[in-house]
Amino acid sequence: MFDLQKVLRDNIKNLEPYSSARDEFQGEASVFLDANENPFNNTLNRYPDPLQHELKLKIGKQKNIHPENIFLGNGSDEPIDLSIRAFCEPGHDNIISIKPTYGMYKVSADINGVKFNEVLLSDDFNVNADAVLEKIDSNTKLIFLCSPNNPTGNSLNRADISKIISEFDGIVILDEAYIDFSNQIGFLQELENCPNLIILQTFSKAWSMAGIRLGMAFASKEIIAVFNRIKYPYNVNILTQRAALKELENSQETIEKVKIILAERSNLINELNSISIIKKVFPSDANFLLVKVNDARQIYNYLLTKGIIVRDRSKVALCLGCLRITIGTPQENKILIKALQEYK
Ligand code: PMP
Repeated sequence: MFDLQKVLRDNIKNLEPYSSARDEFQGEASVFLDANENPFNNTLNRYPDPLQHELKLKIGKQKNIHPENIFLGNGSDEPIDLSIRAFCEPGHDNIISIKPTYGMYKVSADINGVKFNEVLLSDDFNVNADAVLEKIDSNTKLIFLCSPNNPTGNSLNRADISKIISEFDGIVILDEAYIDFSNQIGFLQELENCPNLIILQTFSKAWSMAGIRLGMAFASKEIIAVFNRIKYPYNVNILTQRAALKELENSQETIEKVKIILAERSNLINELNSISIIKKVFPSDANFLLVKVNDARQIYNYLLTKGIIVRDRSKVALCLGCLRITIGTPQENKILIKALQEYK
């Protein structure tokens, strides 16, 4: 049985959190002399809302999630790091994840001095729930999963994800950064039944706002309250909050852009498959393709000479000989295909 108090670190359980001026007073007033701000209005002279109420309300409406179940941070990297700091005792606890996957889970674990154990995916990039569950010991606090996964592009098998969530007494963090490019439904609607689940999403991909650094975590209100106690007081700045609110007004535009990216993904798969140096294009539920080529390093360098940058993943487990290619605009994708066709 999952018990949040059991997985929390003692120092976090006993923490007296910082209380900012904006935390202490909420309500209507016209003269703010409580936060040592500069009083002269230039639209940025006040501290931002520390809990981003307006933004959470809008995101909640769109995703059908209560604002109390939402945490917003400086990219997804913030809730990744906060999760490790809240639940893992350095030098004692451990984390399990899959291999290959997004690199920041391990980097964050390493920075925090927390052991990181990896379970290799199958040859078709799927996770075997039993293999993950077997690795759990009494010090395992977190399991990181990523679906659709980076760099492989596929969605993990839903039944395996569900099994891991339901059989693990610690916390499962499911990174759904690429979910808007998948035709599978994610786990947001399962949150109510899964008190040990944290879902990560981001404004950096489908929402085309990587520059504002805004990541979302969805979880029980008890887990969100833990994040709120340990985050930097004003972790999401005013410019980011404003830009995200504006983007949310244009959600139809976002849907249209995603449709174009999905159509381009299909075109690119067809085009790549007709080029002889391409050995395999792996199926993708994301906005990138993992592509096996004849000589990854040489082709990577050749593309560089054409001004085209892709990601060389050829040294990553299960991705030997592979490049990871982001779906660009129709024009960018044409330039890529032409360059690959001309490669000798
Ligand atoms: N999760 C995954 C799986 C990613 O691939 C990335 C970025 N490449 C992120 C999270 C980072 O998201 P953010 O920009 O919100 O920090």
